[in-house]
Amino acid sequence: MAVSKRIVLHFPRRLVEQPVIYRLVKDYNLVFNILRASITAEPEEEGLMVLELTGEQTEYDKGINFLLKSGLKIQSLSQDVTRNEARCTHCGACITICPPGAFELDPATRQVSFHNEKCVACGLCIKTCPPRAMEVHF
Ligand code: SF4
Ligand code: SF4
Repeated sequence: MAVSKRIVLHFPRRLVEQPVIYRLVKDYNLVFNILRASITAEPEEEGLMVLELTGEQTEYDKGINFLLKSGLKIQSLSQDVTRNEARCTHCGACITICPPGAFELDPATRQVSFHNEKCVACGLCIKTCPPRAMEVHF
């Protein structure tokens, strides 16, 4: 049975340059589509990649095992991050810490907008937001 799932991969610094994704194609016949990729600076440098992975269930499971054994952290993208608009004070603290740049400051109005479609559910803004306006739903 074929499966297609969206996952977030966290690469430790030592693996950022390694061809681990290529091995998924070559060794496990998986098809991937990179939805987003970035390098975070805080709290330590790591690669972050949002991937749509498609293939036979048994090969998919083997591929995920391979990634885990390689030292990558894997997160399912079933989590959805939203902003409680009533709580947001537009302080801007989330803008610089968000790896894919999901927050945007309008210089004219000083309002911070949240672009949910860019979010990779890393969770950094949840801890950073002073009035706890960012919420994660599982
Ligand atoms: S850190 Fe929180 S309160 Fe500040 S702009 Fe971002 S979402 Fe709004
Ligand atoms: S969880 Fe917050 S910091 Fe992380 S990608 Fe989504 S909006 Fe940005």
